[in-house]
Amino acid sequence: MIWLVGAGPGDSGLLTLRGYEVLKRADVVIFDRLVGDGVLAFMPETAEKIDAGKISGSHKITQAEIESLIISRAKSGKNVVRLKGGDPFVFGRGGEEAEAIIRAGLDFEIVPGVTSALSVPAYAGIPVTHRDYCSGVNIYTAHDRDNMIPDFADTTSVFLMGVANSSELQSKLLLTMSPDTPCAVIENGTTSSQRVIRSTLEHLHDSIVNNNVNPPAVIVIGKTSALNLNHCANLPLVNKKIIITRPEGRSEKLSMMLRDLGAEVILLPTIKTSTLHDALDGMKLSGYERIGFTSVTGVNALFEILAEKGRDIREIGNAEIAAIGSATKEALNNHGLKVDYVPEIFDGHHLAEGLAKLGGKILMLRAENGTPEIELVFRNYGINYTNVCIYRIDYVKLFCVPKFADIIIFTSSSTVRGLAENTSSLREALAVCIGKQTADEAVKAGFTRIKIAERADVESIVRACS
Ligand code: SAH
Repeated sequence: MIWLVGAGPGDSGLLTLRGYEVLKRADVVIFDRLVGDGVLAFMPETAEKIDAGKISGSHKITQAEIESLIISRAKSGKNVVRLKGGDPFVFGRGGEEAEAIIRAGLDFEIVPGVTSALSVPAYAGIPVTHRDYCSGVNIYTAHDRDNMIPDFADTTSVFLMGVANSSELQSKLLLTMSPDTPCAVIENGTTSSQRVIRSTLEHLHDSIVNNNVNPPAVIVIGKTSALNLNHCANLPLVNKKIIITRPEGRSEKLSMMLRDLGAEVILLPTIKTSTLHDALDGMKLSGYERIGFTSVTGVNALFEILAEKGRDIREIGNAEIAAIGSATKEALNNHGLKVDYVPEIFDGHHLAEGLAKLGGKILMLRAENGTPEIELVFRNYGINYTNVCIYRIDYVKLFCVPKFADIIIFTSSSTVRGLAENTSSLREALAVCIGKQTADEAVKAGFTRIKIAERADVESIVRACS
């Protein structure tokens, strides 16, 4: 099966739900240059990823080569996603690709995308239509076409691919339009590096040159380009690009809060966790006085194993329960378990210390390759405890790492190591960390700007970012 998917204009929040759904199922993704970092980060780790905007060998991949790649991969039974910036049928050669697929007799689905032609002006506070100013909108490519001079005075004109041709574009438009027609140029629309430059038609080219505008940019011409119905100019994180390295599925609340403050959020999990399904085979959970959990993942892994093996949480009897922090406590509460102990400071060291002081027969249910700190603390206190690893942490192999970020959020030392395994760049970013252990790991990985969240909860992380 083939899907021609519109990735939207840049911000990953503007990928459609259907687009996300099929992207997550792809065996092969063939993507364009303009697809945003956040959308690229959604590509499955296991998928074959082909950069169609890249030079291959000594030449740029041609349109014919792209089409034959799509077709050959689909013929070998793969789920192929052809991922294109904006909408696949707006100046994206999506039409040509659909024709080629039809000629090959293959099945495909078009997943429309949010086109930059409409959404980039919208993000910049420019409505492309407005009853008081115009009655329609035209979308053009600024690439040389003799017949492209719009002559509708009451229509907004949006030009894509116009940066390099802005001088010719301006001259052509001035043949029929007034020099004081309002214009706006929007570079990197919908992302943290968006810039909006307003001028009038007679100054359009100069405004592009003087401000050193680079593609991708959209040029809007018409009365509404003077409007500035800006929705987020005053938000504290509006120009910030923030990477969250937490495992997949654990970042929704954090990402929503950061987006609400205006940030561009990239979900880039650097670790993944897997349950060790047989970890509790032949082992009793009864007879312990205290059971310690070091993460939400550990809690979920325990209940997954119990369900799979036809076992029951009542095995733990009256054991007291300790959680490393508030999120782990909440996960236990959601399973109907009351939590008896949470350390003042949410980290492995303090959890182990608290448990060691309380004493008794202790069981720790944790990650195979989690922090050695816990072992050290128990040893220092001379406590004999039972350690059972019920899940493991693996580093994710990242395919594309964003070129820059303002902030990177690390919620555990392993998330830092997971990034370091993949890249030595991005070290200029501010590392916002949960806990001192994580911050120490960030220093080790080469970060120099580090901030530790006051507490190990989402609200504190957000505060540390703003
Ligand atoms: N299919 C795409 C357009 C592809 S043509 C769509 O529907 O959006 C490429 C042009 O789109 C760029 O040269 C630029 O003019 C525009 N463009 C795409 N993304 C943009 C962005 N984030 N900001 C400004 N312009 C963008």
